[in-house]
Amino acid sequence: MYDLIIIGGGPAGLTAAIYAIRKRMNCLLISPDLGGKANLRMVIEGGTTYQVINGSDIVRRFRGELEYLEFARLLEKVTHLEKAGDHFALTTDSGRQFEAKSVILSMGADPVRLNVPGADSYFMRGVAYSTVSYAPLYMDKQVAVVGSNGMALRGAAELAQIASKVHLIAPDHGELDSNLGRRVLASKRVTLYEGWQPESVAGDSEVRQLVISSPSAEQCTLDVDAVFVELGLVPRTGLVEGWVELDEQKRIVTSCGTETSVPGLFAAGDITHLPAEQVLIAIGEGAKAALNAYEYLLNG
Ligand SMILES: Cc1cc2nc3c(=O)[nH]c(=O)nc-3n(C[C@H](O)[C@H](O)[C@H](O)COP(=O)(O)OP(=O)(O)OC[C@H]3O[C@@H](n4cnc5c(N)ncnc54)[C@H](O)[C@@H]3O)c2cc1C
Repeated sequence: MYDLIIIGGGPAGLTAAIYAIRKRMNCLLISPDLGGKANLRMVIEGGTTYQVINGSDIVRRFRGELEYLEFARLLEKVTHLEKAGDHFALTTDSGRQFEAKSVILSMGADPVRLNVPGADSYFMRGVAYSTVSYAPLYMDKQVAVVGSNGMALRGAAELAQIASKVHLIAPDHGELDSNLGRRVLASKRVTLYEGWQPESVAGDSEVRQLVISSPSAEQCTLDVDAVFVELGLVPRTGLVEGWVELDEQKRIVTSCGTETSVPGLFAAGDITHLPAEQVLIAIGEGAKAALNAYEYLLNG
């Protein structure tokens, strides 16, 4: 029986594991990879000196430590998790079974991908899924934002202060009527294409063009240096759906102390309902979750 099992090896899970090891907890991190989405980085010409976000350096060091501490990690996927009396029981994809007195959920979330020709080949070469991370790279450039939800509008608002031109491709009306939507549309730098759909992405070593089509099938080619896709995040909460409280977007509801609705079960990073989507925030939440699990066991 482990004191703590951490599910997911992204920034949140790796940090939780390192903190738990420092507390001498008998812990195991289970994840098919180490690093999670922190392994993804935008590659753009002249962008090598971009140093605003240093979270990936911390993640690299924590990953190195865990690669060395073989006893504390298992490179598998958890396929089943349940509460079994006063502890938790879980199974991995190889059929191995484990028990733990406490569990941290840090399986992250998947961005909804843009499914048009060119979008995958230009992934992280101008096709971006994290406006909050990459908007500062596009000072005085022309960009497109795809989406009509709050994240897309927040992204468009940020880019309208940085980029020279923002094409907002809103496949539907979404949240355009909100205060934020009105503010974005009031910007002279923003052009709205409501009801239009992305058709394809093209470029050379990086994105240069986005082709879009109107509801009447008219096509238009936009010259852009980046396409920010903000169609939403799908949290990886399948393991706990039905027995742990989730919000309307199926993210795990946590207290600010990372507790879920089930005692002994904690959650950290992009999988929670607290706004994150940043490596540094996931690192902080992971540390907090480990310390709270430690406290939970001390008091149990
Ligand atoms: C394309 C892209 C680029 C980004 N760039 C930046 C950036 O430059 N700077 C920045 O600060 N933020 C960036 N972000 C956001 C940042 O990557 C995330 O906020 C951060 O990685 C969240 O960490 P996490 O640990 O919560 O989840 P994740 O990083 O998503 O890690 C989740 C982990 O859980 C594992 N897992 C999933 N399911 C299971 C399971 N069933 N069993 C076991 N393990 C499982 C996964 O394999 C993975 O290791 C980017 C996001 C995207 C999508």
